[in-house]
Amino acid sequence: MMAEEGLETVLARAGLGGGAVGHTGRTEAEPGRAASPAPEPLSEPIFPASVYRFADMTRVDEVWDGLREGFVYRRLGHPNQAVLEEVLARLEGAEEALACSSGMGALYSAVIAHLRSGDHIVAQAGLYGGTQTLLTGELSRLGITCSFAPAATGEAFEEALRALEAEGRRPRAMLVETLANPSLAVAELPALSALAARRGLLFIVDNTFATPLGCRPLKWGPALVVHSATKFLNGHSDVTAGVVAGPKELVGPLRRLATAVGLTIAPFDAWLLLRGLRTLHLRFERQQRSALEVASWLEGRRGVKRVLYPGLPSHPSHGLALRVLDGFGAVLSFELEGGEEAVRAFVARLKLISLAPSLGETATTVTYPARTSHRSLSLEEREAAGAYPGLVRLSVGTEDTDDILEDLDQALG
Ligand SMILES: *Cc1c(COP(=O)(O)O)cnc(C)c1O
Repeated sequence: MMAEEGLETVLARAGLGGGAVGHTGRTEAEPGRAASPAPEPLSEPIFPASVYRFADMTRVDEVWDGLREGFVYRRLGHPNQAVLEEVLARLEGAEEALACSSGMGALYSAVIAHLRSGDHIVAQAGLYGGTQTLLTGELSRLGITCSFAPAATGEAFEEALRALEAEGRRPRAMLVETLANPSLAVAELPALSALAARRGLLFIVDNTFATPLGCRPLKWGPALVVHSATKFLNGHSDVTAGVVAGPKELVGPLRRLATAVGLTIAPFDAWLLLRGLRTLHLRFERQQRSALEVASWLEGRRGVKRVLYPGLPSHPSHGLALRVLDGFGAVLSFELEGGEEAVRAFVARLKLISLAPSLGETATTVTYPARTSHRSLSLEEREAAGAYPGLVRLSVGTEDTDDILEDLDQALG
């Protein structure tokens, strides 16, 4: 079966072929009726149904008791979600995956399913803005508090945990991002994973920037791996979705919560995401290759103060990246001399590259973290996170590398 196939084959086949993955949605012939030849579409059909009918009462019992595979009601699961989750679990090397309606929905489910009032999360400073807001706003209202370690290293987290315990607080979970934004600092996953295991803490890793092709955090131990599938996994700027993958015993409570509150993915989004996933390996390979080329090209260029890309030997995390990552990713940041004014002029001159506050698209995009993801922070907090006034973040797309370089060249002047 697919477990023995290469990741690229899994992606290319994503959900298709020989009924190898999940539910095909085909119904058996009913007694006394000849089976009509089942259509065999090469692409996955979409099942928008909100509810499924049952042949008889026995079938109701069988499906409810888990004796027979089947679907009941869309919020509880549907064929497009089932196929997608199989593929996502395989990608992360996880026992189980849950597909949610957004990355934030995935993160929210991960926390709410496992923590309760009085519990405390230790997170790395400088998280994705939405996550920061979730932790310090919504979750703190529910009595789940959070403190921040200055870096995603074993040492920084150990110190933060000790400080908490000295205050008599109850740490319950640790949260990091594989690649931080916009510094592209790499999380010290082997040490952090071991620390979480020693302390019996839930370890949550936001793997959005790295993708499962750039890093598979589960190889260092149990964790909940979260993605905003809105980014690289879908890749085509037309889906908002999220994923949580991990051991069954950790994902199970999440599925109960997400179905109870209605945070699961819709059929059309699941279908689009599966289609996007089929080319993830091709897109990501191309994007990574271009990103390294662009980063090397930018480094040392007049007007560019520094370039942050873990694939460059000059990046503070380069050594760690070689140990932890399977690829350096396709996002890089660079700082322009001349601060915000220089950034404005640069952005105004771009032709091919769009100013758009996201990443992982087939199109190359730039964002200005100081005014988007890090807008709500104070100047000091922004600088601590690396969102300097002259800093631009670039998500390298699938275009011809020379076209990207040409646009950057003319825009930098
Ligand atoms: C975009 C993003 C999220 C949030 O995901 P949505 O799909 O927008 O809800 C979370 N974490 C990171 C690192 C992101 O880039």
